[in-house]
This record gives sequence, structure tokens and C-alpha cells, in this order.
Amino acid sequence: MNRVLSADWVLPVEGPPIEGGAVAIEDGRIASVGDARDLGPGTHYPDAVILPGFVNAHSHLEYAVYAGFGGGLGDFAEWITLHIQRKARIGWEEYVDIARFGAAQCLASGVTTVGDCSYSGATAVAAADLGVRATVYLEVFGADATLGLEHFAEIKERVAGFFSERIRPGISPHAPYSVSLELYRACAELGLPLATHISESPAEIAYVVHGEGPWGAYSDLLVPPPGTTGTRLLAEHDLLGSHVLAAHCVMVDDEEIDLLASTGTGVAHCPRSNAALGCGVAPLAELNAAGARVGVGTDSPASAPSFDFFDELRGVLLSARARARRPSVLSAAETLELGTLGGARALGLDSEIGSLTSGKRADVAIVSLEGSPYLPVEDPAAAVVYGGSPERVLATFVDGEPRYERGGMDWHELTAAAHSARRAMLAVPPAAEPEPATARRA
Ligand SMILES: [Zn+2]
Repeated sequence: MNRVLSADWVLPVEGPPIEGGAVAIEDGRIASVGDARDLGPGTHYPDAVILPGFVNAHSHLEYAVYAGFGGGLGDFAEWITLHIQRKARIGWEEYVDIARFGAAQCLASGVTTVGDCSYSGATAVAAADLGVRATVYLEVFGADATLGLEHFAEIKERVAGFFSERIRPGISPHAPYSVSLELYRACAELGLPLATHISESPAEIAYVVHGEGPWGAYSDLLVPPPGTTGTRLLAEHDLLGSHVLAAHCVMVDDEEIDLLASTGTGVAHCPRSNAALGCGVAPLAELNAAGARVGVGTDSPASAPSFDFFDELRGVLLSARARARRPSVLSAAETLELGTLGGARALGLDSEIGSLTSGKRADVAIVSLEGSPYLPVEDPAAAVVYGGSPERVLATFVDGEPRYERGGMDWHELTAAAHSARRAMLAVPPAAEPEPATARRA
């Protein structure tokens, strides 16, 4: 369907802001971007900004109901054990319900594309149902390459019918402490987009480099330490590259930053998750200066508080300035670029999405500034980054079709199903139930 969207401001990201701008959409692609006086007002959104849909470069939609589950990750083994127990209480249907809830929350936050790591594959179903663009990196774990690839093949087969031009399959060997080099290599041989978690925490580095630190005590849960960092390990074995997305990269030195940049590896920067888990602040300014392809990811409510992409953008901006002790290190406009075109670059999709440019897919978010302290607008990027919130998202379009409209989407059933899955996960197993008070007194 062809349509024109117009607003007080259009932020194309590639190119300067356009006051009184409009975006013309034809057959799911952007036909032109310019002055509303030339393109016509079409559907006009007053006191609003039209921008490219956000690209959430690292998420786990199937953990959408895990809010608070990652709290106080003091003991890694205790957390993993609890996580495994809770996951065992739900099945495939619940995973799909949870992932749908996650996809809905992303759309409501202006996100049009996710780079999602999914163990169950439910993200493919959710993205197909809700109309989100996705690279679904199916997760594998373990030391045994054959078993890892068998799991991958099984899950890929399960969700094969949901892949499309919009939803593409990838593979995600989880991390260098949970996946052997043999399995990393086997994954890379498939030639698919590949995502992994590397150089995330001090505890990871202590374990993978020296076999020490708090995780050393739980080596039976982990693969043997490779003796080097994840970033170096993958670089040494020619496993980095432009088809690879590396989530986190908090604990990277100058040499590792150069390895990531020179190989064209995508980096998903997840500042709220990294802060909440006490991992640190990734060297964003250094990664940018080296020319790395950096995007922004919310990770999931298992670590970060939410899929709220505006909150994540503020996390990007504030943590970069705090780390550099210099406000000029990252502007609001640069932050917005990281959350749109940056994510598209990190996922290798920048020829198709990430900016409002003629010929690209019409993935668009519309953010209201009604009643905002940033109105009248001085800097529209600052108004969106500092003052935006999911409550201010008026509409989210993917391929030119509205996938979210404020007040117009009935997600009651979807939300109830996700809450029911969370309730099941939180159910206390009979053996762990406390004795009745009367019995205790006796
Ligand atoms: Zn993650």
C-alpha cells in the first residue's frame, strides 16, 4: 500500500533533520523523503518526529518475562541452576507466548528489527506473527560440535516455515565459556549470520584466560578455558568477520578493538545489561574511533530491566560520557545513529534498513513530543533520545505496514498468555514449599 507520513520533523539519520518533513512509501519501500509541501501531508502527526525504526542489535525475546530473574547475580552457578529449573517448567507454547510479548514490547518501543539470540527458536514465530524484522540466531551450547549442530538442525527444522525475506536464520554459539572452539568452527562453516557473547565480564575473562576466578569453581558447567579471551580466540581462528555479531565487548583492549574493527565484526553495545550485571562500561568511543560497526542492544529482561529502547539509548549516551568524562564524546544525534543505522551495519543490513533513504525498506517509528519539555523543538534528536519513551511512540511501521499504533493494538490476550508463562516459571516446586506455620510451631 502506498502512503505518505508527515510530521513537524523528519530525522532521516543519513542527512540533516527536515522541519515540516514527509516520507512517501511505495510497495513497502521508501519512495522519497523531503518537504511535506512537496510530498503532501498524507497522514500528519502533529508535535511528532518521524525516524527510522530502531534496530535492536542484541535481544532475547524468549526471556521477555524474566524481569528480576537476573537480580543479584552473585553466584553464577546458583543463577544458572535457578534458570534451568524455571525453564524446565514451561514448554514450546509458552516460549512462543513469551517471545510474542517481547516482540510486541519492541514494536511499542519503536523497534522494527531485532538481532535475536533464541534457544527455542520461538523468536521466528513471534517475529512472523507480529511483523517484526529479525535475524534469529539459533543458540547452541556445549563442547560437542555434533550435538550442538544436531540441536541447531532440530530447532531450525521446527521453525523453518517462519523464515522469509524479512526473517532470516542465523546461528549463535553462545560464548567462549559455554561453547568449545570445535563447535564455534562448526557453526562458522554453515556460512550463516553468526552472533556470540564475548568479552562481557571480568569473571568471564578470569575463567577463559586463566581458568580462575569465581567461575573456576563451576568448570563442570562450562567448557574447558581456551586460555585466551573470546575476542582473541575468534580472531586467531579466523572466526570474526562482517557476518559476525559480537554482543557486549566490554572487556576489550586496544588490540582487540582493532581486531573487531579490522575484521568488520558487528558489535552489539548493551550498556544497561552490562551495568546491571556489574560488568563495566564498554569502550564505545574507542570502538567508534577504530571504525567498528557498533549497534545498540537491549539484551533481555534477564539482565537489563526492559526492551525499552529509549532507555537503552540514554544508557548509551550517559555511560559513554561518564566513561570518557567528556560530554562531547557522543551527541544525541550520534546516539540515534547508533540505534538505527549503527545496528543495521552491525547486522549487515544497512543497504536495506537503518535510515530514511529512498529505496530502503519503509521501517519507520513515529515519536510524539506532545507536552514534552523538548517542545518547541531545538534539536529533534535530543528530544527523541532524552525525552522519548514507549508511551510516546505513536506508530511503528515495518515494510510500510503499521505493526503498532498507540491505542489501536489489542494485545490483551498476548500479554495474559505471557504473564501466565511467567507464573508457571515462578511456581515453587512442591519440595521447596515451606512447611505450614502450624507445623513449624509444633
Ligand atoms: Zn545476550
